[in-house]
Amino acid sequence: MTSVDIIVPCYNEEEVVETFYRVTDGVVASMTGYQFTYIFVDDGSSDATLSKLYGLAKAHPNVRYLSFSRNFGKEAAMYAGLKNSSGDLVIIMDADLQHPPAMIPAMMKGIEEGYDCSAARRTSRQGESRIRSAFSSLFYKISNRMSDVKMPQAAVDFRIMTRQMVDSILELSEVERFSKGIFAWVGYKTKWYPYENVERTLGTTKWSFRGLFKYAVDGITSFSIAPLRLVSGMGFLISCIAFIYIIITLIQTLIFGIDVPGYVTTLCAVLFLGGIIELSIGILGEYIAHIYMEAKDRPIYIIKESNLDHKKGSSQHD
Ligand code: UDP
Ligand code: MG
Repeated sequence: MTSVDIIVPCYNEEEVVETFYRVTDGVVASMTGYQFTYIFVDDGSSDATLSKLYGLAKAHPNVRYLSFSRNFGKEAAMYAGLKNSSGDLVIIMDADLQHPPAMIPAMMKGIEEGYDCSAARRTSRQGESRIRSAFSSLFYKISNRMSDVKMPQAAVDFRIMTRQMVDSILELSEVERFSKGIFAWVGYKTKWYPYENVERTLGTTKWSFRGLFKYAVDGITSFSIAPLRLVSGMGFLISCIAFIYIIITLIQTLIFGIDVPGYVTTLCAVLFLGGIIELSIGILGEYIAHIYMEAKDRPIYIIKESNLDHKKGSSQHD
């Protein structure tokens, strides 16, 4: 019997958790040879999610839950789930049924074939706002160009992984986690399963545009130092241009004397350089912010209560 843990991050999902359990269990109950355990991670929900989880845990012996002391974000919830899982295989999926449970049997085939990971990929972003899709595809373009870690576009956090892969993921102890990059960074053989985007029917999305923007910047700066190189490159290029310009001006002055008006040129140069310097400091700042957060080494999550013998959220290996 292969033990499988299903990790479900939940933030204000009172409307869905029960339906999620019913639908998912309807699918997995018929799979022979596997023993499923659910690990719901309540990410500091302010609604009745936790009491729904109590109810589920009471009614079904294979339901575990972890509840955070506040909202730590989906990354932290996934990490907590992985850290507290012990199954031979681990499935991560959203609570909102946008990751179709019906795909689990097919995805399990990939693992049976010898893949380390079966992961879902959206073939369409239908039902999602245009602007969000456009920014998302821009993010993947920039990120994949800048980083050696190639993240497949449209990959979602719905995957089945072997214990070996999960242990490797847990070895990356960074506090600011960007799972899409981490999954790609650890390597292993992944089989992709395309599916049509499913619109959320219950509850609402927890992402704001600001949240997604921060997520994208973190994603790039966590896996690539190309922006820093870009800054050095820009500095070098501008210095070269400036040097040439100085020589031209010097010669001009020597031959034709001083040409007084230069208001526009001066203003343009000052503004242009000012902009580039600010941008460069900003980019440096992003990296310093990462160093700062990592140096503090705060726990990634804090568990307030749980019905399993849980592990703490510090990034140190324990
Ligand atoms: N989620 C979470 N913590 C958060 C935000 C989201 O655990 O701070 C969970 C949420 O409950 C859901 C999953 O992450 O199970 C995906 O969130 P959502 O559906 O809002 O994102 P979208 O599908 O719009 O990308
Ligand atoms: Mg969703």
